[in-house]
Amino acid sequence: MNIHEYQAREIFRSHGLPVPDSVLAETAEQARDAAARFGGTVVIKAQVHAGGRGKAGGVKLASDPAEAGEAAEAILGMEIKGLVVEKVLVAPAVEIATEAYVGIVMDRASQRPVMMVSPEGGVDIEEVAATKPEAIFKEAIDPRYGLMPHEATGLAYRLFSDPALAKQAVRALAGLWNAYDGADATLAEINPLVSTPEGEVLAIDAKMNIDDSSLFRQPEIEAMRDEGAEAPSEQRAREAGLSYIKLEGDVGCCVNGAGLAMATMDLVKYYGGSPANFLDIGGSSSPEKVVAALEIITQDPSVRSILFNIFGGITRCDDVANGIVEATGRLDLDVPITIRLTGTNEKEGVRILEGAGFEADTDMDRAVQRAVEVAS
Ligand code: GDP
Ligand code: MN
Repeated sequence: MNIHEYQAREIFRSHGLPVPDSVLAETAEQARDAAARFGGTVVIKAQVHAGGRGKAGGVKLASDPAEAGEAAEAILGMEIKGLVVEKVLVAPAVEIATEAYVGIVMDRASQRPVMMVSPEGGVDIEEVAATKPEAIFKEAIDPRYGLMPHEATGLAYRLFSDPALAKQAVRALAGLWNAYDGADATLAEINPLVSTPEGEVLAIDAKMNIDDSSLFRQPEIEAMRDEGAEAPSEQRAREAGLSYIKLEGDVGCCVNGAGLAMATMDLVKYYGGSPANFLDIGGSSSPEKVVAALEIITQDPSVRSILFNIFGGITRCDDVANGIVEATGRLDLDVPITIRLTGTNEKEGVRILEGAGFEADTDMDRAVQRAVEVAS
């Protein structure tokens, strides 16, 4: 689950990270009042589940309350990466001497959380990784012990040679680890962690992703869910009880079972295609779930081919077939559909589909190949 910067700031603060004061505003008037309370220059920041807000015009400095109101007016309602800004954060502006990157992500290669730091902060860390990988320093963290003091110290000196700054960075890195660990995060990031001309180290951005599987034991974080800020497709999928993750490709996949969904995506790649999504309609699929799945897949404009890959176990092929017929009757589809069905009630499923003018294959290889072909 994604949370907003203002929420991640709160979690960071509770772990002792040096995060400047800030308030949330939902109107230009509230932003103006907040700026008046803070006094001096403030920064107005779009609160959306997307990075790169600075580049998109979603972060503005304002030197007085009137300007703060204008900046908030401009940012509220703005669209950043397809998401509409409904709230802004107002914070006293910080004078920046240097900008560093610090972050923790769950790393599959080392099977551990990895802390990454770079003195080249502020910009896209992906860009630094691509063009200047030697400027990124990493430490895999053993979750049994957490971030060890010598690890934090080593990384802090990669960011600052001045011991006074490095000492503050050590505390910030320890706080970031505690926030990541305590919140069951899969990502916790400060970009930038700045130093000021007065020699203070401050976290002026905050980003966290929380492991969905841990939300049952993180009720305070679960309560931070902002449904209005989620991609509509993901919201719809959650309501319908489907596991859905949007990807970059053009072959929409509708599969039952997470393992088969993974295997399907692998096979799409193997035959030269690219999956548009991961979608697991689950074990006992009712026709309603299939209808919801097709609606979600077809709302993605990059989908050029739809592939059903169903292995009937508890899921009955005739249920899925009825769902496909019902959904295609309800929706105005202009994307070709390839169907592979096998297992429980396969014959009934094929009969239903053929009766409605569809072809149904029982061979996974053949069906995936066809779905990839029609997409290109
Ligand atoms: P992002 O673009 O979504 O990552 O948003 P950030 O919060 O990282 O802001 C983008 C950039 O705006 C930062 O890298 C800073 O250069 C600048 N910025 C943000 N807050 C302040 C501030 O308080 N003072 C100054 N001078 N610049 C800021
Ligand atoms: Mn940032």
